[in-house]
Formats: sequence, C-alpha cells, structure tokens
Amino acid sequence: MSNAPSNPAPTPTPAPGDFIREIVAQDNTDGKYAGRVITRFPPEPNGYLHIGHAKSICLNFGLALENNGRCHLRFDDTNPAKEDQEYVDSIMADVRWLGFNWGKHLYYASDYFQQLYDWAVLLTKSGLAYVCDLSADQISRMRGSLTQPGAPSPYRDRPVDENLDLLNRMRNGEFSDGSRTLRAKIDMASPNLNLRDPVMYRIAHAEHHRTGSKWCIYPMYDWAHGQSDWIEGVTHSICTLEFENHRPLYNWFIDNIAKLGGAPQNIPYQPNQTEFARLNLTYTVLSKRKLLELVKGGHVSGWDDPRMPTLSGFRRRGYTPESIGHFARSVGVTKFDSVIDISRLENALRDDLNKRAPRRMGVLNPLKLVIDNYPDGQSEDLDAVNNPEDPSAGTRKIPFSKVLYIEQDDFREVPPPKYHRLTPGQEVRLRYAFFVRCTSVSKDENGVITEVHCTYDPATRGGDSPDGRKVKGTIHWVSADHAAEAEVRLYDHLFKQEDPNDVPDGQSYLTNLNPNSLVVISNAKLEPSLKEAANGERYQFERHGYFCVDMRDSKPGKPIFNRTVSLKDTWSKLEKKK
Ligand code: ATP
Ligand code: MG
Repeated sequence: MSNAPSNPAPTPTPAPGDFIREIVAQDNTDGKYAGRVITRFPPEPNGYLHIGHAKSICLNFGLALENNGRCHLRFDDTNPAKEDQEYVDSIMADVRWLGFNWGKHLYYASDYFQQLYDWAVLLTKSGLAYVCDLSADQISRMRGSLTQPGAPSPYRDRPVDENLDLLNRMRNGEFSDGSRTLRAKIDMASPNLNLRDPVMYRIAHAEHHRTGSKWCIYPMYDWAHGQSDWIEGVTHSICTLEFENHRPLYNWFIDNIAKLGGAPQNIPYQPNQTEFARLNLTYTVLSKRKLLELVKGGHVSGWDDPRMPTLSGFRRRGYTPESIGHFARSVGVTKFDSVIDISRLENALRDDLNKRAPRRMGVLNPLKLVIDNYPDGQSEDLDAVNNPEDPSAGTRKIPFSKVLYIEQDDFREVPPPKYHRLTPGQEVRLRYAFFVRCTSVSKDENGVITEVHCTYDPATRGGDSPDGRKVKGTIHWVSADHAAEAEVRLYDHLFKQEDPNDVPDGQSYLTNLNPNSLVVISNAKLEPSLKEAANGERYQFERHGYFCVDMRDSKPGKPIFNRTVSLKDTWSKLEKKK
C-alpha cells in the first residue's frame, strides 16, 4: 500500500491543537508508524450523513492532510437489512461537498467478507470461537450485568471439529436466520460486557447491496471494524466515545489473529484506536435512527429537508461547506460529551455569507405604497450596492416607480414608542431611492389598510438630502409593476425545545417538534432580477436574512427561496427577554 497523499488540501481554517493531534505528533516523533498517518472515515451506509459526521470527517481528513498522510472512505456495510446504495451515493456526495477527496482509497467492509471468514475459521480451529445455538434473546439474557457475571452457553465447549463443520454449514445456508451464531470464546465473567463471548457472525438470508446473495452469514460490526482498519493499514483509528469499551475486544481479535499468524501481509503494525466526544447540538437530534424516523414518518419532506441536520439538508437550506467546516473545526476535539449551542453554527454561516452573498431587496409581507406626486407610468433605474462588505461586487440597477411594495411591519398608523419607520406625517428613506413622507392611508370596508400614500422628494435621489435633512428610518421596497413574485420558505428549528430528547417517561421526542418550523410565504415581492436566480444561489435579502434558491422544487424562471438563516440570532434575543 503506498503512502502517497491523495487528498488535496481544502482546509481554509487551521485546526486548533487537540489531544488527538498531540498523539499523532508524538507517534510521528517516536517513529511508531514510520511517519505514516493513515486515517479513515467509516460510515455505515444506513442513512444520510449529519453535522456530527462532519466533525468526524473534518478530523480524519484534516489529520491526514496536516500530516501528509491519507484518509480512506470506508463503508462499514455489515448489515444488509438497513443499508442501501442510495446512502452510499449520498455519503460520497456529502464528503466531496465538504471539500475532501479520498482519491483511490474507497473501501467497503464487504470487500473483506472472505478474509473475515477465513480469520473466523482460524480462531475456531484454535478453540477461540464456537458455534452457539442460543437465540439472540437467550444470549442477551445470559450475558449478565455490570454486577453479575454472565452464564456460559451450553455450547461453549463444543469440540473444534463440530464447530468447524457447523460454521461451514452456516455459511452454506443450511440453517435459518437467527438459529445459530458464531461467538468468540473470551470470558463470560469479564467486567467488560463486550468481552463476554460476543457474537461474531449471525445468519441472515438477506440480499446485500454489494455482495448480493453470496453470503447468508454476516459479520457483526465489532468483528469487522477493527480488522477492516488493520487490513487497510490504518494507523490512527478515531471514533466516538461509545466505542471506548469495544477497544479491548478489537484488540483481542487482532492480537489473537496475529498470534495465529494471520496478520495481513505488508502491514507491520496494528491500528490504534482513540475516542473523542461526539458532537451534540441544541434543538437537534443527531441519531440516524431518529432521522430515519422523521423521514419515514413524514415529519419532514425527506433526508434533504432544509430543516434536517443532514449535510444534504444544510446544503439545500443554503449552508456553505466552508461554514460547516469552520464550525466543525472550531468546536474542537475533546474526551467530554457536551452540547454545542446551534447559534454557533448559525454564526459561522452568517460570517461566511456576510462576505459573499449579494444583497437584494425582497418584501415578504407586502403593503402597497403609492407615491402620489410621482408621475403615472414613469419608472427610473436607481443604483444599489451589491455587497457593502465586498466593493468588488459592484452595483446594480433597480427599477423605481409610482407604486411600490413595502413590508407590512414597516408601517404603523398608530406607532408604538421609538418607532422610526413609516407613520402618518413621518419621513423615511426608501433604501437607495428617495425620502418619502406619509400623507394618508386607504382602507377597505373592514378598516384594513390597503394602501399607504406618500409624497417623495425628488431632490433626495439616491437616498440623501442635499439640505442635510436627516431621517431616522430606512426601509426596503420593490416596484410593484416590476416585482418578481416568488414563494419564500421560512425555516426555524425543527424542535421547539433545546434538548428534544428531554421528555416525560413514555413520551416521544416527536412531541417536541416545532409546529412552526416551516412557514411558507406564497407571494413575496422581490427585486425583478431574482426571477432568473439559479438553483443554489445565495442572497441576503436586506433586513431579512440569507436566502438560497431551493435546488429541488424551483423551476426555471420560478425560483423558490429558502431562508437559510436570519440576520440576527432571534432565539437568543427571546431567551434574554425571558
Ligand atoms: P448515529 O449514532 O447517528 O446512528 P453512527 O455513529 O451509527 O451514527 P456511523 O455511520 O457509524 O454512524 O458513523 C460514521 C463515523 O462518524 C463514526 O466514526 C462515528 O463515530 C462518527 N460519528 C457519528 N456521529 C457522530 C457525531 N455526532 N459526532 C462526531 N462523530 C460522529
Ligand atoms: Mg455507528
């Protein structure tokens, strides 16, 4: 296996030092792996990747890049019942989207099924594994507890020849699903439950997405994972804390195979596992089982629903891969479980989009504004700055005319205190246009305001008064005749509670779904150029937030805009008010 780097550098922000990077640096100093740094990202293709996986991806690929090593993408596909090619494809797309490249190092645990089986035969031959006829239920009942040792299986002392014969027949499909297992013969009294004769193989007559019906016994994850790393020459096998107790088992398997002369050729060392704390986020669930439940139960529109914490959901929502990478690196790598405030992710995104998203004006809840002293049928183009944070983004023309739309919220007939927007008698600036003063309102038969009437001051063209007159408020607008009409989808947290899993006994986290997580505005009025906005383009709608053209539901000339994130963190404001 060559040690050539195959992952070109996408890292925009240097990762901070952490205990894993220290271990790697020390190993390099000690020459433990002769300077090799080989990591892997090992997803099970049973769902789409989520933001927690991004942390693991950035860590594993990041370490390889920083150390001139390489990172493998390996699918741990040992459970055909739950896995699917759709997931494999989505995972590859998501890792690429984050900017990482595994080069030729794409692997599947299923490629090692034969090798794993041969090793199982090796252990069985030397009395370190046996075929057990107990059911899964019986095995788990006899496993004991943290305070009670387990009870040995009545099949534990089966003669080697019988074990070999039964294992061979298991493999040949002679037995029904669940009727037998192959178990490692370790220690039923071990304080570590994972060492109490764990199951290595189960019988499942199931079609595998890659091996088809070739196999009817499948390796358990624990029997496949460590050896897969070993076969690939992984040096630093990094995983989340829940695998800490599995490490002794992985080492037991590898040590015993090595003792029996089964070590893979050309791999003069064993992988070393280090565990770190998984990422948890407020207002978010990050378990694939639950995400699948949200999809299957129709609580969201799919894995890429813009409210999902999946990478495909974030992508569709308008998140940039850079902001996710920046966030994933900034949360750091530790041994302690913690919950990260989702506003940190949102702020990483705002920082990024602030620099690169062109500004546009869009009115989400339109109210008609009529400029009585503006000539009928006339229009003119005004200059607007595309991005005040980026002078190179230049300016654009926007049409202005007699009838405009402004935001309902930007007018009050009876203003509350300190209201600086439009009210009768008050003058405000129309962004990039003119000063206008409200003269009257029109109402329908129910007393609802239908139009606000104003006069404008032609001398204030561009938004400044030559006589030095000041106004307190600036509001955005769109010319009614020129406006692009569009659907705009406003998203909020999918869960209404910081910890969605905090529910009374017997209740589901689903009771914490936020009923207002999606609000659809069907007739927003936008700057005319936005009619041609292409899928995936991101804009800031001034004063509203960042929006992205939905990649799935938009049609040419009929873009649908997803609100990616508001301009400010409205939730933390609410919290402070409480
Ligand atoms: P889940 O627990 O959400 O079902 P998983 O751990 O079963 O996810 P895998 O496909 O096995 O999902 O994960 C691939 C890799 O991503 C593993 O190394 C796992 O440790 C890591 N990973 C999964 N979730 C997180 C997380 N929340 N934070 C950091 N790393 C994670
Ligand atoms: Mg897992």
